[in-house]
Amino acid sequence: MAQPYERVNTDANEESLRMVSSQPIGNEPVSDEELRPHVLDGFIGQPQLKAQLRLFLDAARKRETPPDHILLAGPPGLGKTTLAMIVANELEVPIRITSGPAIQHAGDLASILSSLEPGEVLFVDEVHRLPRAAEELLYIAMEDFRVDVMVGKGPGASSIPLTLPRFTMIGATTREGMLPSPLRARFGFTAHLDFYPHEELEKLVERSAGVLGLELGQDAAHELALRSRGTPRIANRLLRRVRDWVIVHDLPRAEAEDVRQALALYQIDEEGLDRLDIAVLNAIVRNFQGGPVGLNTLAAMVGEESETVETVCEPYLVREGFLIRTPKGRVAMPKAWQHLGMRPNEDDVNKSF
Ligand code: ADP
Repeated sequence: MAQPYERVNTDANEESLRMVSSQPIGNEPVSDEELRPHVLDGFIGQPQLKAQLRLFLDAARKRETPPDHILLAGPPGLGKTTLAMIVANELEVPIRITSGPAIQHAGDLASILSSLEPGEVLFVDEVHRLPRAAEELLYIAMEDFRVDVMVGKGPGASSIPLTLPRFTMIGATTREGMLPSPLRARFGFTAHLDFYPHEELEKLVERSAGVLGLELGQDAAHELALRSRGTPRIANRLLRRVRDWVIVHDLPRAEAEDVRQALALYQIDEEGLDRLDIAVLNAIVRNFQGGPVGLNTLAAMVGEESETVETVCEPYLVREGFLIRTPKGRVAMPKAWQHLGMRPNEDDVNKSF
């Protein structure tokens, strides 16, 4: 069965402090567990991926051999760990969970590999962050189910080949482009997880509310989905904050207005933008008439590190069409002006490009 998992927060530490962060915060790796579906049918959305995976697993079951290795790629919080656990559960095999940054030496990986049971799933999160030596060891393990164990040190050292049982490696990555091609080539099944549309997030929120014993009134799930940035982890987190609101106010259920009020308290608006996102848009629109404005200037205006603005705010703002990155700097799009209740001046817009 799945073991509790200490997640290494990888990219931006500031990110982990935000309610709308797609990384886990606080004790979430533990509280996430109760909301994880355990079977493929319980996994919401991603219909094509689910159909492919269903076929892939059914075939492995019929062949009575462990399936090929699986690569799950996509932004944080979209269900990669959940899918890995579902695969193990559906195949009724144990799962071992680790991550690229947790493996510091090739020896760490060798000892995990040499203790795997036949058919076991080995899940390596952030697999693009494995140290080089471990990566090379993994190539042989994945392809030949063998690991060369080094005995002794210096000139007298020798390597003893150790045969491994057939296992299924599941690698997860938020940066597929950083995976070396020999590693990528060793996965027989690659799935790309994408952000979830609102309708799927609504279903997800309804399912999670059921698990948490929280009743949702009409449109409450819709209001939550709008604010969840296409990300199940964020949807579940916001749902828990709405549950706090319901408990504290002694309400029989959460209505849409409760969702609005509870999340307004956390300064999360109806597009899922928080205080920092709004500060960035305000700086570009109000202080620079829509831009272009350089990243460092922008970061200084909102009192944040450039990296935080670039890795934490911008991807969502760009994806949702609030701003674009141009060689001259960041430019606010009409949607950003509208969101701030303003209208762009035609001259300003033309000047920006
Ligand atoms: P990742 O590994 O991609 O960062 P996780 O698998 O840890 O994401 O998912 C984060 C949270 O979102 C978990 O609590 C999980 O239960 C939930 N979740 C993610 N995707 C789905 C889904 N498709 N259906 C139901 N819950 C999901």
